[in-house]
Amino acid sequence: TVRTRFAPSPTGYLHLGGARTALFSWAYARHFGGTFILRIEDTDLERSTPEAVQAILDGMEWLGLQHDEGPFYQMKRMDRYREVVMQMLQSGTAYHCYSSPEEVEAMRERQRAAGEKPRYDGTWRPEPGKTLPPVPEGRKPVVRFRNPPEGDVTWNDLVKGPITISNRELDDLIIARPDGTPTYNFCVAIDDWDMQITHVIRGDDHVNNTPRQINILQALGAPLPQYGHVPMILGADGEKLSKRHGAVSVMEYPAQGYLPEAMLNYLARLGWSHGDDEIFSTEQLCEWFDLDHLSKSPAQFNPEKLAWLNNHYIKQADNARLEGLVRPLMEKEGAQFDGAPELQSVIALMKDRANTINELASGAMLFYRQPLPDAALFAQHVTEVVKPALLQFAEGCKSVEWNKAALSALMKETLAAHKLKMPQLAMPLRLIVTGQLQTPAIDAVLELFGREVVVARLAKFL
Ligand code: GLU
Repeated sequence: TVRTRFAPSPTGYLHLGGARTALFSWAYARHFGGTFILRIEDTDLERSTPEAVQAILDGMEWLGLQHDEGPFYQMKRMDRYREVVMQMLQSGTAYHCYSSPEEVEAMRERQRAAGEKPRYDGTWRPEPGKTLPPVPEGRKPVVRFRNPPEGDVTWNDLVKGPITISNRELDDLIIARPDGTPTYNFCVAIDDWDMQITHVIRGDDHVNNTPRQINILQALGAPLPQYGHVPMILGADGEKLSKRHGAVSVMEYPAQGYLPEAMLNYLARLGWSHGDDEIFSTEQLCEWFDLDHLSKSPAQFNPEKLAWLNNHYIKQADNARLEGLVRPLMEKEGAQFDGAPELQSVIALMKDRANTINELASGAMLFYRQPLPDAALFAQHVTEVVKPALLQFAEGCKSVEWNKAALSALMKETLAAHKLKMPQLAMPLRLIVTGQLQTPAIDAVLELFGREVVVARLAKFL
């Protein structure tokens, strides 16, 4: 059975790249009815914060990427890492190294000067028949992994294809520091083993770690997961995605009025494809998701496409749900709901053109505040030429049947009687009734406001 994991380091917000990796791991597990595990890699005490942990949990929840096991915290697993270090020391797959940092640095300098790749020279590496130097007094050792000296590490990367690294390129990695704390690659390897991960899907900035982790797992006789390294996300300018390209924290998107299903759909298409399909539900994604259609080249972040998808999902969304999202924003804007049109009808009228929930909310405000037409615009549109027509229309409003079709007929009648064109009546009506010139179709707007409001506003301004 498939077991995947998302293993973020809580050193900042959940960014789009992390969210996409999480999504791929999650969708892969869902596709096979497997298990998705959340693991928080919080061993970097200086950079990890509880706020960042919370931001990751919030982001995952917002996107609906539910984990089946965890969250596990590496800081709570220290005893287990120490135990494995002890076992490795006993079995000889790791050894104590008393070289001081200064000695290691001097060693590297020499190697660099000789044009060699810097690596630990094996001073403290026990070999049959070799006598180790005397232990320097009072010095605490690090623990190094005994990397195989010869041969290659090869894996068939699920995204990139076969990758081979020579063991000569790899160092005898430090797995525990002088104070006993375990190091990054070691913890990841032990966790993937203990959590029985079958597929490691992660960013390709980790490709260099993979042979090290494979060697550790092999030394432990642990089964190897399969590895897939996903290329990163670039901005439209081809540079690594960063703040310059707009929001990079996933949780800025709900704040800007994006729906999670739009974000999920967008992230899924960013580096993965299913034929020409651009729009698919989360269920379809889980049904279709595979690793064969992951792109080998970096994906480019395109905010317009995300906005387009968001508009699609807003159009599809239930009006009651949209009301729940829009109303609090409008309340903050001082919307007056008393005696105003029903919010869900307004949403139905306006949602087609909204790219975000925030746009929908500010657009809908038109129905929920007192119109304050700009004096200059008013003078420009409510001219002496059109006033008689407006007065006739206002009079007609008192008795006309109150629906879009009848209002539209009344407008046409009025236009014909005064030999005017549609905008000459529609623009002043918009200005008087809503305070602005840009609104959805005027007959629909009037219908929603209702006779009482329309008649009162016309009377007030004419
Ligand atoms: N903690 C690592 C990161 O946030 C990911 C490790 C992994 O997926 O193996 O970049």
